[in-house]
Order: sequence, then C-alpha cells, then structure tokens
Amino acid sequence: MKFSRGLRFGIICLGLISLEMQLSSVCCAQLPTGWKAHDWDRQRPQVVTPGLSNLPLAPPSDAVVLFNGKNLDEWRAVDGGPAKWIIKDEVMESVPGSGYVFTAKSFGDVQLHVEWAAPAQVQGKSQGRGNSGVFLQGLFEVQVLDSFDNVTYADGQAGAVYGQYPPLVNASRKPGEWQAYDIIYRKPAFQDDGKLLQPARITVLHNGVLVQDNVRPLGPTSWIQHGTYQKIAEKLPLSFQDHGNPVRYRNVWLRELPAETITQPDKPYDPVIVALTPEQQAKIVGKYNRNSGGLWEISQKDNKLLFSMIAAPLEMIPHSKEEFGLKYTAGKLTLTYDESGNPSELQFYMGGEIMKATRAK
Ligand code: MG
Repeated sequence: MKFSRGLRFGIICLGLISLEMQLSSVCCAQLPTGWKAHDWDRQRPQVVTPGLSNLPLAPPSDAVVLFNGKNLDEWRAVDGGPAKWIIKDEVMESVPGSGYVFTAKSFGDVQLHVEWAAPAQVQGKSQGRGNSGVFLQGLFEVQVLDSFDNVTYADGQAGAVYGQYPPLVNASRKPGEWQAYDIIYRKPAFQDDGKLLQPARITVLHNGVLVQDNVRPLGPTSWIQHGTYQKIAEKLPLSFQDHGNPVRYRNVWLRELPAETITQPDKPYDPVIVALTPEQQAKIVGKYNRNSGGLWEISQKDNKLLFSMIAAPLEMIPHSKEEFGLKYTAGKLTLTYDESGNPSELQFYMGGEIMKATRAK
C-alpha cells in the first residue's frame, strides 16, 4: 500500500502522539497511596523523642506469651524445625543467614507486644543497619530498623508498613536501647470465592507513640513491589525477619482479639409500647421533688413525654401508664397514682440504683 507524503507524515505524527500517551500513562502510574514504593524523595517523618521507657511491659493475664527469655519452644524455622536464632542473656537474637523465625501457633486478629533492640554497635547504613521485621500473619511487615539518625527511604524506616506506609513520626530510641511495638492487627477478609472483602488493618505504637493509624496494606509485603491479596487461612504464624543484622527481641506476647461482631441483648428492651392519650400524658406532665433533693420534670413535646433530670431531656417509651422505658438509656420509670388517678410518686431505676421522687404540689 502506497501513502502520499502528507499522509505518511500524518501517520508518523499520530504514532508519536500515541507513544507519548503510552509513556505518560506509564510515567504517572503510582500506588493508591499516591506514592511509588521506596521513593527517596518522599518526606521523612518528623523525629519525636519518646517518653521515658516503661519496659519491660509485663503481659496481661490473657496473653499468649511467645518469648519470655527462657527458650524458643514457641518458635520454628521456615522448614518447621527448631528455630535457628540464639538466646543470650534471656534475649533472642537474629542469627544472620539463619532465616526467619515463625511462631509455632497460628493467629488471626491480635494485639501484639514486641520489644526489640538494634545492635548497640552501629554498623552499616540505611536498610543495612539493624534491619529485621515483624510479619503479621507472616505477610505484612512492620519494619524493624535502626532509624535513630539513619537516613533511609520513608516507607522503609522503623515503624513503616514496609514499602507502603511510612510511620507518622520517627519515635526511635538509640541503637542498643530497648524499644517497643504495640500492634493492633486485623486480618483481611475474603468472600468464599476468594475475592477480597476487606484489606488487613494495622495500628502501631512505637515506644508509646502512634506511628500507624489503622492503615490498610495494599497487599502482602515484598521488597520492590507489594504482592496481591490471595485468600489466606483464618490463622497463620507470625514471623520475625532475618535481614542479616543481629537484632534482639525480648518479652514478646500477644492477645488474641475477638472478631469485630456487634452483640445484641438477649431480649428486646421495649417489647410492649403503648400510646397514651393526650389526657393521660397531661396528667403525668409536671415537676417531681426528688426525695434526696433536687427536681425532676416530665414535659411533653410532639406527643412524646420527656424526662429531665440534670442533662438533656430523655424520651420516655410508655409500656403502660405506670411503666416507662427510656429511648436510648437502660433505665426504667415507674409512676404510682393516687386514688383520684393523679401521679403521686415517680421511681427511676438505673445502674442498679432506685431513685424516688414525689409529685410537686
Ligand atoms: Mg525488615
């Protein structure tokens, strides 16, 4: 096929425009966070000096203790055999080249407490200095790094969800000093067909300072680019990273968290709701002298009765002309009527207490 000179020029121009559009779409690709992983120019978090150390922080009564300085019984090597890290002075230490260590038990949602220390003797720089990591469900890394006066990319420093979310601030202690991570981890949720329903969520306090606030990892941690969500078991071991530096750990414990379900009371609060006539309501409206001092008041608005103590009026839910619940508060009001059918006494039950008042004249 032969094209005229002008048409050939036009085709070349269109080709160049198309190439430029392709290049521009490539050059502007970025993560949903707005950043590409490991951008050296990404602003590094402000340094915050943590308060005085309260470590070691003893585990609460319902904790699963993963390391208490005695042995590595709760830990395994990647092949399922005995963990190859060592214990020195009741502290477990990463042995360069020995591989990650994994918990023998598996976990889902957890509150995790980890104490760690980068080597006191500073060696290396950037990612080569005191590097390890806490991998939640073995998948999502909260970076462990000596980030005290050590420049690295923002999403790779201590407290980062590695490669995705830099810490909000740099709350690092000096190398050799014990530091703490307190991590709240919620596992990802999947549909039966494997489709992601909800990403994992991670909150981290570093030395008592918030550094990750319920962030949603974009996928499992990987070095250069994060992975994609694949349906996983409800519970998986968590792991610590061997990154070639002798990082130390102690006092590791977690609390397994219940699923985020909303509980309901066993029986409905107001099984019977009646409508009082305007005349019945009018009799109830008025002031009541509290026996221990003070004044209560029942008023009427929009065909509703409102009970006022000291705060905002509470809407009364009539169960009968004698018995009332409250719309949003687990309290109960009981009215007693005199022989002529007018309220004479008001009792208010709440929080295990009974308070009484008599009708003001
Ligand atoms: Mg690491």
